[in-house]
Amino acid sequence: MGQTTTQTRENRTITVDFHDEATYFALLCNPKAFVEFVLAFILSLGFQLNHKASCRGGGCLTRHSHYARVRLGGLTIWRMQCTTCKAVFTILPHFVLRYRRMRPEVARQALIATQGGLSLEWCAVICNISPIALYRLVCAFGQHRLVTVLTRCGLPLPTYILADEKHSRCLTAKVYLPTLVSGRVLWHLGYSDSKSAAAFTESYGAFQRAALQHEPSYKVRGALTDGFDSTTKSMRTLFPGARLGFCLRHALNKLPDKLSGVSASVRKGVRSKFHTLLYRCRQRKSLRVVALGQRLRRFADHIIATVGADPGERVRSWFQDKKAGWYAVLADPQMPASSTLLDQAHNAIDRKLFSMKGFHHPGGSQAVFLTGLAHLYNLIPYQRRAKNAGQCGVAVEGGRLPAQDWMLNLQILTSGGFR
Ligand SMILES: [Zn+2]
Repeated sequence: MGQTTTQTRENRTITVDFHDEATYFALLCNPKAFVEFVLAFILSLGFQLNHKASCRGGGCLTRHSHYARVRLGGLTIWRMQCTTCKAVFTILPHFVLRYRRMRPEVARQALIATQGGLSLEWCAVICNISPIALYRLVCAFGQHRLVTVLTRCGLPLPTYILADEKHSRCLTAKVYLPTLVSGRVLWHLGYSDSKSAAAFTESYGAFQRAALQHEPSYKVRGALTDGFDSTTKSMRTLFPGARLGFCLRHALNKLPDKLSGVSASVRKGVRSKFHTLLYRCRQRKSLRVVALGQRLRRFADHIIATVGADPGERVRSWFQDKKAGWYAVLADPQMPASSTLLDQAHNAIDRKLFSMKGFHHPGGSQAVFLTGLAHLYNLIPYQRRAKNAGQCGVAVEGGRLPAQDWMLNLQILTSGGFR
């Protein structure tokens, strides 16, 4: 096996759902039925096998060889070879994890506890595995890009995105997690030790490269941020044609800060008036930029007249800074108006990162670990009492999933042998 392959071997493993172990062992003794079962499974997913670039074989597979993997307790694993390009695919049954002694049921328990916010250490205590084994498991799934997995589910690349950074710590150093969300799905969860525009452009650029590789004509139509300079700049650099909007809910929450020294009841009244203004603008089918400018001007005048000149001027200059971003949101009905869904994603990730020593290790594989967590976020169904209960983010967004079971979906979708 493998004497002739000197170049690095591509991961062409595919996880196949054999329903139960008995079916798998029965098929092992029947080569023809085995190959047919595997081909039918791939066909049912609508996936293509990752043949070599030169291959025009069109999925002609034959049994190549089979060998016993002693590490898996003598389990026989099949490899199948394309007769045209000679690419070899390793067929992994659903009850085995690639390169791992851990059974999927054990992994499932540990991963769902991680997703629920339990530290790696506690997950390890409950599931009787080492914290590092769990860390590596998450990293193994994180080797596969979010764009690859999400597009395998038939989700279109997002035309409107929410962008923001989660602030976190690696030991004592401040670090940032540049994040892209569309609806209930995380499309990018990066890692950066700087909050410069260049660092964020580099991180978000990884998403852009993956997306363009998948679809060369991909374009972002609109991006919503909370107005942080580095984020806005990186969006402008990467997606020059896109509308750049500022979150309206953020604006509402920021307004009372501009009225320091004013009584709470007055601030509340002003906030509610501002809410009505933004709400009415959003109801309109079309809004001209002058119309919004006029309303904001009148609103600032109103504050000067009723609250005072100082807070009024503060609000006026703040409006001046932000109104282009609000206009971008209000002028396009498809633009997301608030970054709530991104905040929810960040809160979920935050629960996991809290007290995770693996993550806080300076030499750790932060980027892949975070991508692994993002896969869990996208694929683990919501709890029974939540909105969208029993569905995962991908399903809520209208994606197709290969199986009913989320763990099996994770295994199949992060298989290296599919294209
Ligand atoms: Zn081939």
